[in-house]
Amino acid sequence: KMNTDIGQHILKNPGIAQAIVDKSDLKQSDVVLEIGPGSGNLSLPILARCARLTAIELDPRMAAELTKRVQGTPYAAKLTLLLGDVIKRPALPYSDVIISNTPYQISSPLVFKILGMDAPPRCAVLMFQREFAQRLFANPGDKLYSRLSANVQMWAHVQNVMKVGKNNFSPPPMVESSVVRIVPKRPRPQISYEEWDGMLRVCFSRKNKTLRAAFAVEGVVAGLVENWRTWCAVNGMPVEDDEGDVAMGADAGFAPGISEGGVSTAQEDEWHGFAEEANGDDMDVD
Ligand code: SAM
Repeated sequence: KMNTDIGQHILKNPGIAQAIVDKSDLKQSDVVLEIGPGSGNLSLPILARCARLTAIELDPRMAAELTKRVQGTPYAAKLTLLLGDVIKRPALPYSDVIISNTPYQISSPLVFKILGMDAPPRCAVLMFQREFAQRLFANPGDKLYSRLSANVQMWAHVQNVMKVGKNNFSPPPMVESSVVRIVPKRPRPQISYEEWDGMLRVCFSRKNKTLRAAFAVEGVVAGLVENWRTWCAVNGMPVEDDEGDVAMGADAGFAPGISEGGVSTAQEDEWHGFAEEANGDDMDVD
């Protein structure tokens, strides 16, 4: 019996599985990573087209099914099956391409886990719930353009690959799906994830509000002033002590911490922020 709590909607249309593999432009020498292989409906067409496949599956019963399916075939030697929760892994294994019919509850954490990889893949072809997919590639002015869109598009180019109707799955999910291709920018933009995301949190704090108004909010100004003071202290610059009368220099950056609405001087690994995003609120529809 399916456990739909972990998003087990098996892709039953082999044409869609093949189309996903075709859209990932695999080379015969590629190392591929698949998230949530299930019983292997996507894994088998991938195995036909790559050198090695690493698959991470949470459900041991599914993993057993996939193992059985490749047993005694040339694919068995190409497949490494890792059991466990992909999100709980400290790092994703190396791969040239990532492919996944993603369990929808891990959509956001998975995207940021991929974008935070030390050596991100050439591309990731991922199936998502349609609205989440649309947010990933939405442009400014689109109804679904949101913090998630702006954030992801800083680190990657996102393309819409195709729509997939719910009847291609068993059991059919509640919502329609879409496949997107995420191509991480190379080199990765040399900015701090936390500073960028902190600024986006302010920019997208309220719908139908101008940026000027979003930044004029009392807490935001106070946060900026605090960050400016911290930045000055860290960089050995004198700063006026007069509360409420701090000149904001033209080069006043967003120091880490603004995103939490307070100030944090913790000099954490900037990519830590990706994990934070993972548990964030991107999916809330306001
Ligand atoms: N790839 C298969 C297909 O297309 O037919 C199955 C896709 S199904 C939507 C998602 C799969 O991801 C399920 O097999 C589920 O057990 C697995 N899964 C769910 N959460 C997971 C997690 N956190 N880490 C790894 N696998 C997960």
